[in-house]
Amino acid sequence: MNNQQPETPLGNILVVDDTPENLRLLSTMLTHRGYAPRCVINGQMALRACNSNPPDLILLDIMMPEMNGYEVCQHLKSEAKTREIPVIFISAKDEVFDKVNAFAVGAVDYISKPFQFEEVLARIESHLTLRNLQKQLKEQNVLLQEEITSRLAVEKSLYEKNQILQQEISNRLAVEKALQEQNLLLQQEISNRQRAESALLKSNQELARSNAELEQFAYVASHDLQAPLATIASYAQLLEKRYKDQLDSQAIKFISNIVQGCTRMQTLIDDLLEYSRVGRSQKPFEVTDCNHAVQQAIANLQGAIRNDRAVVTYSELPAVMGDISQLVQLFQNLLGNAIKYRQDAPPAVHITACKQKENWLFSVSDNGIGIAPQHQERIFQIFQRLHTQREYSGTGIGLAICQKIVEGHGGSMWVESEPGQGSTFHFTLP
Ligand code: ADP
Repeated sequence: MNNQQPETPLGNILVVDDTPENLRLLSTMLTHRGYAPRCVINGQMALRACNSNPPDLILLDIMMPEMNGYEVCQHLKSEAKTREIPVIFISAKDEVFDKVNAFAVGAVDYISKPFQFEEVLARIESHLTLRNLQKQLKEQNVLLQEEITSRLAVEKSLYEKNQILQQEISNRLAVEKALQEQNLLLQQEISNRQRAESALLKSNQELARSNAELEQFAYVASHDLQAPLATIASYAQLLEKRYKDQLDSQAIKFISNIVQGCTRMQTLIDDLLEYSRVGRSQKPFEVTDCNHAVQQAIANLQGAIRNDRAVVTYSELPAVMGDISQLVQLFQNLLGNAIKYRQDAPPAVHITACKQKENWLFSVSDNGIGIAPQHQERIFQIFQRLHTQREYSGTGIGLAICQKIVEGHGGSMWVESEPGQGSTFHFTLP
């Protein structure tokens, strides 16, 4: 027998018996074997003891006054707090019916009196072990349940994430599809544009070719017209000189009209030749000081400037890459027009240039008659005039030549004007 008392009792055991000797005996033995027994002498006390501090096991006598062991056991099994406590009945009765009844009300075992204490101990031990195992199982079960719940939660969140991912994937697929479609459209657009561009290039080349042909034709035609025209003029003049006495005043007037017509035609041909020459020049561009070009143009226009008492001024002008004779002609035509299309006051013309991003912007301003907005584009076309010969002489080629020179130098040209308020001709040069 082990008399040593362990520090922690092996189990907390409630002994219920109305016979004090039995109680004492059991209590002493259990204490000796390391258990912590509590003893009560009737059913009511047993229930109270279980409720206030549930024991690990109950040794329960069956035959007790007032409330017998079966009733006590039934009570215990009906309460959640005490339902799990293993109950071993101890009784002097040893009949089959009672044993069956004992198990029916929820006991785990049955010991008959007189008992052998070793047997009682063995049964207590095995039921405590069972009880502990059950507890452990229960705890493990709880843990397992928790594990299952947390896994389910993880699974659920994984499923949800999966759903979101699926959604994301299908969204991306949709976006990708839309992008592909747009890409396709863009590709189509690009190839359409490429086609249009090459068609444009082709028609540009065609235009350039036919322009060159036209220029060549204008040049040849006007050049070849010069000789017969000179012949007509000189024969008309000869006619007047030799047969002056035989002709009446009307015939002389007619001859003078022929000569005038020839002169006008000569001017036209000269201007036309000038126009066609602009595009034919092969001279390479070189650094050209625009101040010099303007000075040369002023010198060429000295007669008109003096006659009209015109004042021509210009601010510091830049040097550009160009053809000096063409630039002189450009300024000369613009200055000539500014003086020709004057109002009553003496013409005042001012030339400026200011730097833009990649170009120089030149402006030639005058105080002349101005140009109505609806004519401001067409005056740059060849032969377009806004006045009769009687009002202002001219061929309508001057500005067309200016535009051709500017465009040949890589620039563009336009006018700002209001009738009666003067005009400003702008052009850019790289
Ligand atoms: P032309 O002077 O021989 O008629 P241009 O081609 O030089 O031919 O000019 C075309 C027309 O533009 C002119 O007939 C004139 O009506 C108008 N024009 C040109 N320059 C000016 C100007 N500085 N002020 C007003 N009108 C002008």
